[in-house]
Amino acid sequence: MFESLQDRLGSILNGLTGRGALSEADVSAALREVRRALLEADVALDVVRSFTEKVREKAVGAEILKSIKPGQMVVKIVHDQLVEMLGSEGVTIDLNAPAPVVIMMVGLQGSGKTTTTGKIASRMKTRDKKKVLMASLDTRRPAAQEQLRQLGVQTGVDTLPVIAGQSPTDIAARAVQAAKLGGHDVVILDTAGRTHIDEPLMIEMAEIKRKSNPHEILLVADALTGQDAVNLARNFDERVGITGLVLTRMDGDGRGGAALSMRAVTGKPIKLIGVGEKMGELEEFHPRRVADRILG
Ligand code: GDP
Repeated sequence: MFESLQDRLGSILNGLTGRGALSEADVSAALREVRRALLEADVALDVVRSFTEKVREKAVGAEILKSIKPGQMVVKIVHDQLVEMLGSEGVTIDLNAPAPVVIMMVGLQGSGKTTTTGKIASRMKTRDKKKVLMASLDTRRPAAQEQLRQLGVQTGVDTLPVIAGQSPTDIAARAVQAAKLGGHDVVILDTAGRTHIDEPLMIEMAEIKRKSNPHEILLVADALTGQDAVNLARNFDERVGITGLVLTRMDGDGRGGAALSMRAVTGKPIKLIGVGEKMGELEEFHPRRVADRILG
């Protein structure tokens, strides 16, 4: 599909012997290819810029190890830097708070929010033996509320019954109250999305946050979003304040550049990834695997 970065750098740096140090000119030529690879992987432009600068600092003057070719040397520096920027392994949802722990799911419509709510709830129930309550706050789309109810039936997780006419903030407060009364460990709020970010959406999210005091606010984002991922993440983080990211559709053809963009812009960890439509298709995030994929 894509010519690997390794091959591309190999042809650029072939003239170099395996001795000495990487020069400014060698690195600049190599970085043009790195930049292209990152843009092809859908990493946002400003993230590509800051990334290549960091690589430049590390690569210029770096001793070329005898055992590897200069091209491989640059790929290794790039790979290590990608892993560093993508963040460490094993950061996952934090339930270390008094019950019921509130998790608020935010994101655009169609990003996979409701599906991910079901996946997380199902996993907490079966694997962690937690009693979970899910509540749909999408009062604009009855279909969304029905979708969550069906996921509840399918997974055997409780859902908050719908009361017509309630506002999202009222539902959030009722969900927390119901979870207290019901002895639930966790309550997951599936908020409404829009097709794009707008002011009313941000105000609604901030109000829900104020009313429900969530311990985790997870931004669910489509890994195939590409360049828009940066604006999305920046907006949600600045306006609502997120605690982590969940990337969906990592089973798709995309190279996952959105992961790097969103992580770089917010500094918040990628906690989980969605790898399919089924309830079991939720995985931990492995920075090395995503780095490999971004490099192509
Ligand atoms: P919402 O509007 O954000 O609540 O999005 P939904 O949860 O309704 O998901 C939209 C579509 O994406 C549905 O058809 C889901 O089955 C699908 N979907 C969600 N997560 C994934 C994923 O990780 N991989 C794939 N291939 N599809 C997903």
